[in-house]
Amino acid sequence: MTTSQHALNVAMQVPHHFLNGADQAGMGAGRSLIDPATEQVWLDVRDASASQLGEAVKGAKGALERWSGAAPNARARTLTRLADLIEARSDDLAAVESRNVGKPLGQARRDVLRAAEYFRFYAGACDKLNGDTIPLGADQTALTVLEPVGVTAHILPWNYPISTLARGAAPALAVGATVVAKPSELTPLSAVMVAQLAHEAGLPEGAFNVICGAGDIGAALAGHEEVAHVTFTGSVATGRKVMQAASVSVAGVTLELGGKSPVVVLDDADLDAAAEDVARGIFFNAGQICAAGARLICQRRVHQALVAKIRERAEAMQMGNPLDDPALGPLASAQQLARVESFVNRAKADGLTCVTGGQRADRPGYFYPPTIFTDVPADAEITQCEVFGPVLVSQICDTPDEALELANGTAFGLVAGIYTADTTQALRFARAVEAGQVFVNGFLKGGDTVPFGGVKDSGIGREKGLAGLAAYTAPKSIVLNH
Ligand code: NAD
Repeated sequence: MTTSQHALNVAMQVPHHFLNGADQAGMGAGRSLIDPATEQVWLDVRDASASQLGEAVKGAKGALERWSGAAPNARARTLTRLADLIEARSDDLAAVESRNVGKPLGQARRDVLRAAEYFRFYAGACDKLNGDTIPLGADQTALTVLEPVGVTAHILPWNYPISTLARGAAPALAVGATVVAKPSELTPLSAVMVAQLAHEAGLPEGAFNVICGAGDIGAALAGHEEVAHVTFTGSVATGRKVMQAASVSVAGVTLELGGKSPVVVLDDADLDAAAEDVARGIFFNAGQICAAGARLICQRRVHQALVAKIRERAEAMQMGNPLDDPALGPLASAQQLARVESFVNRAKADGLTCVTGGQRADRPGYFYPPTIFTDVPADAEITQCEVFGPVLVSQICDTPDEALELANGTAFGLVAGIYTADTTQALRFARAVEAGQVFVNGFLKGGDTVPFGGVKDSGIGREKGLAGLAAYTAPKSIVLNH
């Protein structure tokens, strides 16, 4: 059997929703999932109805006492079992994710293993959530108890469906909160598979629910009065709506939004290392990465040589069916392809210099080749806006100060990188750049135990690492007078 046939066979068995510990068929509108590599329908699914959403939230509320009341080491064992089960099913999960998102199989497998690691990492935190004692004097004792916030909603994007699910659900469950997740309507399957495994691992009925559907279901979930915290990963425009919806019940929000992340290369940098990382940082997953290094900011003396090295790597990337694990898969949807095409076409019409790519691939599927624009002005649309595709823009600077000014010159502030042999320059940049994560001499080489999140329009709140627990924890202060 081919991997493609296998992925389809597994996907056909996946129910489309998981609530209250059981598979459910959708009772809302029907939709077709399109294979991005062939543009053919590969599966028909049905959204959840409004009443199914209500049922999921009610189930999550009902499971709170049992799950949060369990011994912390019992919660830890359950989450560790879930990590083990995800690993054991990683071939199936990766095949389905690869076909659904259009992501090269090796990258999909990596995402699945990352999801398992999130559950393993946060399992380790369950019995270490210590509160504080606060000195108030001899006749008073003050202490804090870390309680779970309650029901948590997780609204997910299509570019990293399984890892964005796990990075929110794992810390929420670790502190004793319960979960209702809504994956993107384009990529619903892996989340439902993880919910089934969570149940198999021993989570109580209702502790981990997945309902599928589009923005209407997402909006209803974000605004549900029983939801205490909404973790949203997606676009800035939708993030604003989610924040508004959550304000009705005064729920907390974590917003992981878009970016236009700068990678600065100073003229004393190791150009081969920088070229390798810049190419990976923008062309990996066909550029559909919130943290993609979409802007190269380079000192004039080395700009031409560096762009040549990046271009060589871009042009060597082979496209192919995601399940054959090529270097580059298709974009995830027709809508995403149209978005990338329109940004690139406007940039070309504005007279910007495109040195490679710049046109949809001549083959079926939503393939778009690695594309590089050079010497692009700071105020160009393609410098300022998130394209969310394999499109790099380079900006030229003369001094490190100018590089910093350009780096901070967009509305976003997710990630930034710098390449230089001068550690003082690197540290000055790292301290002054407006970003939630900064990489020195190794763009995106960090890992999922390092806190992650944005400033400015890139979002609020932090996920990953121990910082990711805070959103799901409500410290209660108790003061005893004696
Ligand atoms: P999107 O905003 O279109 O959709 C995200 C999710 O929100 C989907 O599940 C969608 O169904 C749902 N949704 C749509 N309208 C809604 C509404 N009114 N209320 C509640 N939910 C609603 O984003 P996308 O196209 O799926 O993802 C791409 C974007 O996500 C990019 O901007 C990218 O940068 C960002 N992203 C950010 C991170 C991060 O960690 N910062 C990670 C991945 C993706």
